[in-house]
Amino acid sequence: MIKTDILIIGAGPTGLFAVFEAGLLKLKCHLIDALPQAGGQCSEIYPKKPIYDIPGFPEVLAGDLVDNLMEQIKSFQPGFTLGERAETIKKLEDGTFVVTTNKGTEHHAPVVAIAGGLGSFEPRKPLLENLSKFEDNGVAYMIKDPEVYRDKKVIIAGGGDSALDWSIFLADVASQVTLVHRRNEFRGALDSVEKVQELKDKGKLNLITPAEIIGLNGDTQLESVLIRKISDDNEELVLEVDDFIPLFGLSPKLGPIGDWGLEIEKNAIKVDTFDYQTNIPGIYAIGDVNTYPGKLKLILCGFHEATLMCQSAFQKIHPDKKYVMKYTTVGGVSGFDGTKKEAPKAVVKAIE
Ligand SMILES: Cc1cc2nc3c(=O)[nH]c(=O)nc-3n(C[C@H](O)[C@H](O)[C@H](O)COP(=O)(O)OP(=O)(O)OC[C@H]3O[C@@H](n4cnc5c(N)ncnc54)[C@H](O)[C@@H]3O)c2cc1C
Repeated sequence: MIKTDILIIGAGPTGLFAVFEAGLLKLKCHLIDALPQAGGQCSEIYPKKPIYDIPGFPEVLAGDLVDNLMEQIKSFQPGFTLGERAETIKKLEDGTFVVTTNKGTEHHAPVVAIAGGLGSFEPRKPLLENLSKFEDNGVAYMIKDPEVYRDKKVIIAGGGDSALDWSIFLADVASQVTLVHRRNEFRGALDSVEKVQELKDKGKLNLITPAEIIGLNGDTQLESVLIRKISDDNEELVLEVDDFIPLFGLSPKLGPIGDWGLEIEKNAIKVDTFDYQTNIPGIYAIGDVNTYPGKLKLILCGFHEATLMCQSAFQKIHPDKKYVMKYTTVGGVSGFDGTKKEAPKAVVKAIE
């Protein structure tokens, strides 16, 4: 049985940063993730997409952010159970927990932090008859490596941030980018909508709205799509393409965590914003997986929640210890991991 102080379910950015905050308090962490790699949505859905709202980073690729988070927690030596889904939880008489994965790996901890994000990743797919035939043969629901689309003719469908951002990004990569959306209005950031319009005006992007893809053609590989304009005459046109990328978002599925007796609201776990604890003492929920009044599903909010969660977890694990907060920039001291570092460096928080 794997034993740790805080068992974190989900190795997305929130779970990874929780390891750092816990490490400052000398608490050990172990992470479970259903995916084969750490990084959550950043690694799985948009590793090459730039993020602009991480404090201190005017621009950082999602994949690089994950690499940096991994570097930041390295010295705390967290354990990982990757490629396994947390399936069941059992509360023992002493108030500690045993979490078992779908492969039977057991983990024991006094505190469990659920950082499960959207849960299992299931893209919403368009209702097209022969869609599955072209999956991986011209149809993809996520862009992992934009280089795959270099000098290709690409059609993207969708009206959210993902569709807008990737259309903007691929305009410089693909030979032709077409964005199709069912409405004239987009749900994404205003700035991105304006950029798409600018690219359209410069002839670097085709924008077809309101319209929808109603057919896929090709032998084994996708060769063209049938587009229907949503207008009085419902005009139809065939567009030759190499790739069709419907970006309709992910259908949020909590999966097995939904059966753990936690209070759930709209597919998210309700928490107390004092310390992000759930209705079950000792189980916390941080990042995209939780909900509370005013919740924003942003990475920086997950970082904040992880920080407060660790403070509360510390008191739960060490009720006898007094915690005194200090900043991480104290000159001329040892690194927070105990190694000697050049000043000014780490250690920040001291525990008495
Ligand atoms: C295209 C796109 C662009 C975005 N751009 C931005 C942006 O610019 N700025 C920003 O702040 N945010 C952005 N976001 C949102 C941001 O990615 C999320 O807020 C962030 O990833 C949430 O992190 P998390 O760690 O809480 O969850 P996630 O990243 O979703 O990670 C959760 C992890 O938990 C795992 N998991 C779930 N259930 C289980 C289980 N039962 N057992 C084991 N593992 C489990 C999943 O496999 C996953 O790896 C964007 C999202 C998308 C899709």
